[in-house]
Amino acid sequence: MYKKFYKLSSQERRTILQDNGRYDFDLDVPLPESTSENMIENNITLYELPMGVVTGFLMNDKEYVIPMVTEEPSVIAAANNAARIFASNGGLKAKVISRLMRGEIAFSSPLYDYGEYIDNHYDELIDLCNRSYPSIVNRGGGVQSIKHRLIHNENKPSFFIIDVTIDTQEAMGANMINTILEALQAHLQEIYNHEPLMAILSNLADECLVEATIEINPETLRFPESIAQRLEEAYQLASVDPYRAATHNKGIMNGIDAVVIASGNDWRAVEAGAHAYASRSGSYQPLTTWSIADNGNILGSITIPMAIGTVGGTVKLHPKAALAKKIMDYSDAKELMSLIAGIGLAQNFAALYALTTDGIQKGHMRMHARSLAMNAGANENEIQEVVRRLIKDKPMTLQKAELILKEIRR
Ligand code: NDP
Repeated sequence: MYKKFYKLSSQERRTILQDNGRYDFDLDVPLPESTSENMIENNITLYELPMGVVTGFLMNDKEYVIPMVTEEPSVIAAANNAARIFASNGGLKAKVISRLMRGEIAFSSPLYDYGEYIDNHYDELIDLCNRSYPSIVNRGGGVQSIKHRLIHNENKPSFFIIDVTIDTQEAMGANMINTILEALQAHLQEIYNHEPLMAILSNLADECLVEATIEINPETLRFPESIAQRLEEAYQLASVDPYRAATHNKGIMNGIDAVVIASGNDWRAVEAGAHAYASRSGSYQPLTTWSIADNGNILGSITIPMAIGTVGGTVKLHPKAALAKKIMDYSDAKELMSLIAGIGLAQNFAALYALTTDGIQKGHMRMHARSLAMNAGANENEIQEVVRRLIKDKPMTLQKAELILKEIRR
């Protein structure tokens, strides 16, 4: 259905998507100024980024098209390559481990054991929280737990912290969490006669977790005799070398951010959650694992916090987020969480597969040459020739692209 999709023009791609019920011209419109003006402060204009798609993305036996918003060449090509390989191995399996958000209220220098009051009035406090945001309770969510902890380190300031976990249903929930926390903190301030330091959601959303896995037969890859071991070693390297782990995770976020942005969600929240989760053991770790199964197959997995919503924020305000929903055809936040995690795993596989075989530059060469040609000022009719000559006569540099362009124009 999407064969040789990459060879088509943008217009032809849109037509194919529309024929498959995954595109709507009415949604492919810029954000109206009347919306952007109310979205941020001091708004002056819009800043565009390209949106592309990954086709044939098989997850939990359903085939998806995934929109990705990115300025980086090769990201979408790499994700498509991984999607094709994953699909030929039966596709990804993904599941949401839990979908709860957390907020915290912090008191500095606690004067006595504040925890006792919470334990003794637990149900009342849950009720107080839920009464402060009744609509989320009516939607089937609301506060799930109120816990407390004392952070006390010798020669350092102490803090009493109250953790509130909330089922925010289809919303990411930042604003509803903050509203609930404010109600609770006002009550506790009166009880403790102590002003809290702050009350805010936590972006370390480790109870809003999603997992995606893939099993790959090495025979479906190049270098089948060595690739499984090389992928496992690539993971092991990232688990002992933070310099590599940072780049390993950046590659994962290449995919994740691109879909989070397309969906209209807060990618800084997802980024913060991902990196904090990667550091939870005290050392910065890769967000994916790669190992070899007893049958010799390659096992890849990702577990990552994914604080996204399908309502609220800009999700419903931005026409392109509505277009992204049409393209992905997800039904709820759990499905969207799974798709985003799956793309992260696919992106990571594509990077490791390239790095442990041909090296990353080979795949990037053509896109890099295009970028150099455009930066040198080549127009649409000149780009192809500049790219051809750049690839033929390495190394590829901007200076070389400018020289080639001069020659062509002579
Ligand atoms: P909203 O404040 O927009 O709240 C969600 C809205 O969705 C509510 O108005 C709710 O309605 C409505 N809604 C409709 N259907 C549902 C449903 N099925 N389940 C749940 N809600 C539903 O957004 P969030 O609270 O999700 O906050 C997200 C925004 O907060 C993002 O833009 C983010 O950038 C920002 N933010 C992030 C922070 C961080 O990450 N640290 C901090 C502060 C803000 P109703 O009113 O009837 O309940």
